[in-house]
Amino acid sequence: MNSFSEYPFDERIRKAIEELGFTKPTPIQSQTIEPIAEGRDVIGIAQTGTGKTAAFVLPTLQRYLQRDPAEEYKGPRVLILSPTRELAAQVDDSIKQLAKHADFRVALLLGGVPYGKQLQALGNDPEVIVATPGRLIDHVQQKNTHLRAVDVFILDEADRMLDMGFMPAIHQLIGFLGKGERQTLMFSATFPDPIARLASRLLKDPVRVDVSPPVRTPEKIKQGAFYIEKVRKPRLLRELLALPNMTSVMVFCGMKVEADFIHEVISGDGFEVGVLHSDRGQKERTRALDEFRNGSCAVLIATDIAARGLDIKDVSHVINYDLPNNFEDYVHRVGRTARAEAEGEALSFVTPGDLLTFNKIEADLGRPIERYDFEGVTMPWEAGIPSAAGAGRRGRR
Ligand code: ADP
Ligand code: MG
Repeated sequence: MNSFSEYPFDERIRKAIEELGFTKPTPIQSQTIEPIAEGRDVIGIAQTGTGKTAAFVLPTLQRYLQRDPAEEYKGPRVLILSPTRELAAQVDDSIKQLAKHADFRVALLLGGVPYGKQLQALGNDPEVIVATPGRLIDHVQQKNTHLRAVDVFILDEADRMLDMGFMPAIHQLIGFLGKGERQTLMFSATFPDPIARLASRLLKDPVRVDVSPPVRTPEKIKQGAFYIEKVRKPRLLRELLALPNMTSVMVFCGMKVEADFIHEVISGDGFEVGVLHSDRGQKERTRALDEFRNGSCAVLIATDIAARGLDIKDVSHVINYDLPNNFEDYVHRVGRTARAEAEGEALSFVTPGDLLTFNKIEADLGRPIERYDFEGVTMPWEAGIPSAAGAGRRGRR
């Protein structure tokens, strides 16, 4: 499918696509919409920012609209799971846009917020549940809803949903699903092999669509790294943030305490800065994200909770204040910048202890990361850096 008009979308969908200004399907959309609409299980892998949400929402909505409207309501039929509350809220938003001319009721079930509105949404006979796992389990256990009628099960950021942190909750939720036929869809920008093996147990003869190029982050993201002692990091961060082109910056930290610490340091410098991590209340998290989105806050300090999927326009820079532990997290963090047509830059702070990880990330990335100096400290990038097993090391450019 090379254009939206090629496919016999329901008129209500066609109208929404047009109003959103989507002129043609993105590559992941053009290869997954048809198999999904046919009811196949699908694994969809594509770079961040390439429209994966619409890739699973459009055909699911299409299938739903083809059903007999007189069919009796038996419970929610579509279940979409997301790893974070912010991301679930974003998926809910996308559905509301894509389904705005259709009657496709959604219940958004997130932790950290009161039950009242969610109970109301569940009382409204929703067709779709978009949820984070913990709160959904609560609702099912309290019999506020059931998942027996679910026949489309969707994991967004699937590799994260199937990793060790979430797996027990996912298993529990799968136990709540009905025994009948079901379609399972998994989408992500990254899908490492061990997770793919796990995933295959949940899938039936899946169509695997992988449109991620060998170079794993968009070309238009400039990527650089500073070799730096840990104690100098706050100073480098301040200097970077003071640069005039740092208009909208996400700063990623490894730990919540670190995020709070930098938040304090940077706030003291007079920057408008928000912080987002899982120990902050949901009200605070929502406010931090809203203020960053609408530009009233130029800097957002966050943990990996904000690394995946968030579609924020015009993020000029991503700074890895702490280098992520692995390639997948790197790709997701860096993908917060240069969304849609925009350009962006990602800068990583690399301490002596990070060199192995850095080499591995760069090798997996398939393209060199520019090296920068700070305060005239020359990096030992080339001087006997242990390179990750088999990971070819590039010289300084
Ligand atoms: P991903 O999940 O792949 O990171 P999203 O689903 O968040 O990407 O989509 C990124 C942005 O692209 C969103 O703002 C969305 O509205 C937009 N988008 C999606 N599909 C299209 C399309 N076919 N044409 C133009 N923009 C699109
Ligand atoms: Mg996404």
